[in-house]
Amino acid sequence: MAYAYDDQNIFARILRGEIPNKTVLETEHSLAFRDIAPQAPTHILVIPRGAYVCFDHFAHAATDAEIVDYVRAVGEVCRMEGLEADGWRLISNAGTNGVQEVPHLHVHILAGRRLGRMLQ
Ligand code: 5GP
Repeated sequence: MAYAYDDQNIFARILRGEIPNKTVLETEHSLAFRDIAPQAPTHILVIPRGAYVCFDHFAHAATDAEIVDYVRAVGEVCRMEGLEADGWRLISNAGTNGVQEVPHLHVHILAGRRLGRMLQ
């Protein structure tokens, strides 16, 4: 599938420095920052700097270096925030059925409270 990337989406604007953010981690290919409307005591978004719409787009179009950097950035944020003791949840919404609001790949890291069971 060919993905059309909208370079006016809010995370593209954050990456260009047009909108402020509460940065948690910056790496060569990734950026982690706090969600503006946190759903848990810890709610951090991790995004690649590249123009990727969703996980599928990223997995097929990104370089190995970008993918390694991104996966490591997610793990590094969990470690920096001390989440290993009580656990966390990763979510990446995609497309209409996934109810993706911002069309730039992001993983939500949620932690700091007992999260409800999503899958039965
Ligand atoms: P989605 O529904 O696309 O998976 O999640 C998008 C997330 O981006 C939401 O949790 C929303 O609160 C967050 N968000 C939307 N606009 C901004 C913004 O301008 N700054 C930050 N830090 N988060 C945002």
